[in-house]
Amino acid sequence: MGSILVDGSKCNLCGKCVDQCPFGAIQIDLGKVIIDNGCRLCKLCIKNCPEGAISLLKTQKTVDKNEWNGVLVYVEHLEGEIHPVTLELIGKARQLAGEINHPVYALIMGTDVIDLGKGLLEYGVDRVLAYQDEALRHFRADLYTNIFEDCIKEFKPSIVLVGATSVGRSLAPRVAARFRTGLTADCTQLEVRPNTDLVQIRPAFGGNIMAQIVTVRTRPQFATVRYKVMEKADRLRKPGGEIIRCQVKPERLQSGLKVIRTALREKQENISDAEVLVVAGRGVKNPADLGMINELAELLNGQLACTRPLVEAGWLPYTKQIGLSGRTVKPKLIITCGVSGAIQFTACMSAAEQIFAINKDRNAPIFKVAHYGIVGDIYQIIPALIAKLKKEVRSV
Ligand SMILES: Cc1cc2nc3c(=O)[nH]c(=O)nc-3n(C[C@H](O)[C@H](O)[C@H](O)COP(=O)(O)OP(=O)(O)OC[C@H]3O[C@@H](n4cnc5c(N)ncnc54)[C@H](O)[C@@H]3O)c2cc1C
Repeated sequence: MGSILVDGSKCNLCGKCVDQCPFGAIQIDLGKVIIDNGCRLCKLCIKNCPEGAISLLKTQKTVDKNEWNGVLVYVEHLEGEIHPVTLELIGKARQLAGEINHPVYALIMGTDVIDLGKGLLEYGVDRVLAYQDEALRHFRADLYTNIFEDCIKEFKPSIVLVGATSVGRSLAPRVAARFRTGLTADCTQLEVRPNTDLVQIRPAFGGNIMAQIVTVRTRPQFATVRYKVMEKADRLRKPGGEIIRCQVKPERLQSGLKVIRTALREKQENISDAEVLVVAGRGVKNPADLGMINELAELLNGQLACTRPLVEAGWLPYTKQIGLSGRTVKPKLIITCGVSGAIQFTACMSAAEQIFAINKDRNAPIFKVAHYGIVGDIYQIIPALIAKLKKEVRSV
């Protein structure tokens, strides 16, 4: 770790470093050698500078991991309701904290958050850290980042978990940057080593490998996790823990953002909340045929979802897409219709309780994750299923 330093008093702007940099990260501009973010610290410029004007500034600090203690969960809430991803993160935090004997913290900020925060003690949080102030009524990224930073400085958690929601995705990188530490987005699994290093596991390179990412030199370690990926925390019979009302420093409440008006969006159907999903894949030959998939979904009191090619074709909105670049789902039942089962799709649905696949190709990868399958044509099987379900509904 470090950065490249150019001594202007020795440099004669010969340009050798510019020519030899394999990453094209060096330029001469306004009579100065500039090293940009493309630099990979290969040190070729240092070796080849005839004037000895370039050197490595070592900035590596070794963190004392013992000074960082606890797993902190950011509590997302709106209109007095806690986002369910928070309870899933608390479930994971309890497991991780148990393995390294750390406490579980929950950070909640806003107005009227004391009672809301108290409710989290039932889920096994050791300390709810509540920051209450009128200025925190609405989410404003700059203010919330300040308070988050203050909280981390005071309680020094080793691990910080944030939901990969719109708010979480806006907040977590800002706070991580304040500590110059690592952040892994959209983790699908989290493990912890005895030395408190968090192993952050997530699909990489288009989902073809599962990468294990570890932040070894800095603390805290930040991870975001999507809704419906982790198991929700169980309620404790005899909850303990405490709520701490933390001090909000007035000088930290200066914001460059002014909230003029807020309006609640009409609640939309969300495939992540559905208990039953019927998924259309590219085996569906034209948009009109989505009608039969939708009919099957309605008969099962479920929702229609799809693979990415159907969204790309403009047949269905993005909100219906399951997969790495769409949503993660964990329904009780999922029926896939003409879906091949690419990893980018299955990575975000394989935790469903029952997976039922229909595909005319017996070697389709979807059958590897399915609990039940039919090798056959959806244009024969789905109408037959619909007819059978209708008959059963009539006879009830
Ligand atoms: C970075 C990246 C991110 C991606 N993100 C996503 C994502 O979020 N979600 C996603 O879905 N994909 C995603 N993809 C694309 C993914 O790799 C696949 O291309 C996609 O999932 C394939 O969709 P499909 O199964 O509908 O189509 P296909 O792979 O074309 O499969 C169609 C299947 O239908 C079967 N079939 C055809 N006709 C019939 C019939 N009449 N009856 C029965 N079966 C039939 C075929 O045998 C075939 O198995 C991503 C790719 C990349 C590189």
